[in-house]
Amino acid sequence: MSVPTLPAARPGPAELIAAGHRSYSFEFFPPRTGQGEGTLWQALRRIEAVDPSFVSVTYGAGGSSRERTTDLTQRIAEQTTLRPVAHLTAVGHSVAELRQIIGRYADAGIRDVLVLRGDPPGDPRGPWTPHPEGLNHAVDLVRLVRELGDFSIGVAAFPEWHPRSPDWDSDIRHFVAKCRAGADYAITQMFFRAEDYLRLRDRLAAAGCDTPVVPEIMPATRYDQISRFAELSDATFPTGLAGRLHAARHSPEESHRIGVDHAVELAQRLVDEGAPGLHYITLNHSSAALDIHRRLRLPAHPADR
Ligand code: FAD
Repeated sequence: MSVPTLPAARPGPAELIAAGHRSYSFEFFPPRTGQGEGTLWQALRRIEAVDPSFVSVTYGAGGSSRERTTDLTQRIAEQTTLRPVAHLTAVGHSVAELRQIIGRYADAGIRDVLVLRGDPPGDPRGPWTPHPEGLNHAVDLVRLVRELGDFSIGVAAFPEWHPRSPDWDSDIRHFVAKCRAGADYAITQMFFRAEDYLRLRDRLAAAGCDTPVVPEIMPATRYDQISRFAELSDATFPTGLAGRLHAARHSPEESHRIGVDHAVELAQRLVDEGAPGLHYITLNHSSAALDIHRRLRLPAHPADR
């Protein structure tokens, strides 16, 4: 199956970055309830007002949440001025199913896919087993998406290396393979120390890889939530930040201020160091991500740079 060349809308992240701009984007997940849907759309409308480069929609571990990713991505494309990026994983899919999903994205006019392997369902830290008729690594899915149409392709990068990688060298080698297979840009896993991103950047440069890597900014505004996320993703939750958030755990306002302050400091350092953009996790609420974005010393719109 081959899908037609897709119409160009606003420039994608890689095009923006190649033209000397930065990419600013916001990540959402498909909600499960009507109430969640209302919250999400309120957040989307507020974020639309700051004219981001794109918004992305995560792909669930299985079942009906996956349909919701496709539906939500399609609705964003049809009902807003936003450029949606659909996440896609290889988990539990045969190659035939993956071809169908990619074809559906193309039919809906979606030309951006964030290509991921995904984690073992049930236990994200368990051993990885591919679908018997599926794909083993993200690099294989990058090749498939590339083969099927004129998509802009993003992939994942890991500032503290992927938790299942045996060492830095193999992690970098496999990341570079994804880029050479056709990835246009990457977005990192969450991290809380600028040095982790800068080390990854330097290692990629040493490996001759110039694919832009956009840092992900997770607003650490709730102690319990960030402890859990950090444990699941193996991201280091710095003790100073963790201690401040823990002490403020009964005050949502103080926790919000601590998380936003930390993220502003981190993001500003990354931008000052030349990071090609910022990708904010919203958890379907806009306030922390927008507070961070507005407090940074950035042009109002990437095209103004
Ligand atoms: P891969 O690139 O396949 O890497 C996985 C591991 O295999 C690494 O250790 C790598 O070094 C190794 N490897 C790669 N190629 C080879 C090879 N040829 N031979 C041997 N080893 C190899 N998950 C979801 O389920 N849904 C989402 O929407 C989602 N969104 C994400 C967004 C971002 C920005 C990030 C950073 C992660 C996201 N994830 C999501 C999580 C992601 O699926 C997991 O982190 C997963 O464990 C790794 O995915 P990957 O695409 O990096 O896999």
